[in-house]
Order: sequence, then C-alpha cells, then structure tokens
Amino acid sequence: MARGGAARVAVSRYAEFAVSYCHRLPELDGVQNGVRFGAAARSPGATVGLWVTVAGPVDAYGMVVNLSTVVKGAIAREVLGPLDGAYLNDVWPEFETMLPAPESLAWAIWRRLARSLDLVRVRVQWRPTVWADYGGEGMDALLTIETQFCAAHRLSMPGLSLEENYAIYGKCARPSGHGHNYKLAVTVRGPIDPRTGMVAELVAFERLVNEVLVEELDHSFLNADVPHFAMVVPTAENIALYARDRLAEPLRSLGVELYKIRLYETDKNVCEVYGEGYGKD
Ligand SMILES: [Zn+2]
Repeated sequence: MARGGAARVAVSRYAEFAVSYCHRLPELDGVQNGVRFGAAARSPGATVGLWVTVAGPVDAYGMVVNLSTVVKGAIAREVLGPLDGAYLNDVWPEFETMLPAPESLAWAIWRRLARSLDLVRVRVQWRPTVWADYGGEGMDALLTIETQFCAAHRLSMPGLSLEENYAIYGKCARPSGHGHNYKLAVTVRGPIDPRTGMVAELVAFERLVNEVLVEELDHSFLNADVPHFAMVVPTAENIALYARDRLAEPLRSLGVELYKIRLYETDKNVCEVYGEGYGKD
C-alpha cells in the first residue's frame, strides 16, 4: 500500500529537578496569603517532573529528533542549569511579576525550549497529584488535580431479572454490591493569571472539587446514597459523566472551563470524558 505524506510523530523526554518556591502576594498579609495559597505560602520545596514533547516527521535516521542528545541537551541547558536547586521566584524575569506556579513554569519553560525544539507540549508535574500542560496557545494552559474516593456500587438495570443482569454485568451484578478506591483526575483550562501564574488557585480548586463532588460520593453506596444513581447504573462511564455535569458550572466561578474528567475505577479500568466543546466528541 502506498504511504501518504510524512506522518507527524510525537516523542517525549522526561527530566526532574529540585526547587523551592513561595506563593505570596505582597499586597496580602501573612494570614491572607496562607488562606489563599496554603502551605505554598511558606516556601516549600518540591521535586518537579518535566515532560517535553516534540513532534515532526521521522528523518532518514529513523528519528523525529534525537531525544538523548538534542532534547536532553536543550533541557539541561535551558531548564536544569538555571532551575535545579534554585529558588524559583528569583530565577527568571517572568517570576518578578508572576508567581512560579506549575502553569507559569510550563509556559516559561516552553518559551526557552521553543527556541531550539519543535514543541507540542510541556508538562510540569508539580506534585504527584498536580500537573500543568502548556501547548503554545497564547496564555492558555491546562491544570489537573487528582483526588480519590472510596465507594460501593452494584451494576444492575432496574427492571431486569437477576439472571439478565448477571448476563450483562457479570460479578458486578451481585446483589450486595462491592467497593472500589476510585481515582479522579479533573483537568481545567483557562488563561494563566499574570499575577498568580495560575489557571486556577490550587486551594480553591481542590476545595471546590471536594465540596461539590467528592464529599457526596466518598464512603457511599452509590446506588442508594446518591439520588442520581437511583435510576442510572453507576458504571465508571456514568460516574465520569456525573462528575463532569456536577463540576462544569461551579468551576466557572474559578474563571476556568472543565476540560476533561478521567476516572480510574481500578488501575486497569479507566474512563475519560471531555468537557463540553473539548475533545473529539
Ligand atoms: Zn465495580
């Protein structure tokens, strides 16, 4: 079969570096900064993970670009050199007026690496449960937080017999239900604030997801305790859709749009749904 034009292929390189930083606005006092930014107002340290993704056609040597020399070298020169072991607030001119948050850091790293690499995405893994993605679209970035909850459910269609439900859902239809430790990743999209360097402030974002959704689902028997699932089978798909529908409007109060929900029912079963207007469907 004839091959079409050169396919664009993406490749990624990972690096890690240690930093300290402080989220404190000079116009606020210590208490106000603490309320707004939590422990980040106290100059914590962090090991930051960095994923750099570049894309292009595959060359005669079988590569988009040599990850082990060109990309690794650019990361060492532009990122690890100035940032590893540094106090982020003092390092780059961007951070004289903007706090060094995961979103602003991804953006600032992109600006430097884009001089020598055909970038597709820069991901900054700020904590195991917090990461930001920047893809070169003005000041827009994605911010993701991951949380978890424990819940029980039973998969059965109201109106069907036990045998019919077993045929559809297998063991998941057993009458007394069973539990999961769910992991939920919520991704929002919005402009990076020129002062905070953030798309959404983490304390407010985490509190909102907890109050609007997790508190209701955690340690519940979904079918009986959450009214929505009285007549809707609480599959991972339906829980992800419920999370999307519950969170979309409240998140707008933080100045962001819901971009994606990813729900891990187990380490092997994962469900993903995009916010309205995003994704391919
Ligand atoms: Zn289950």
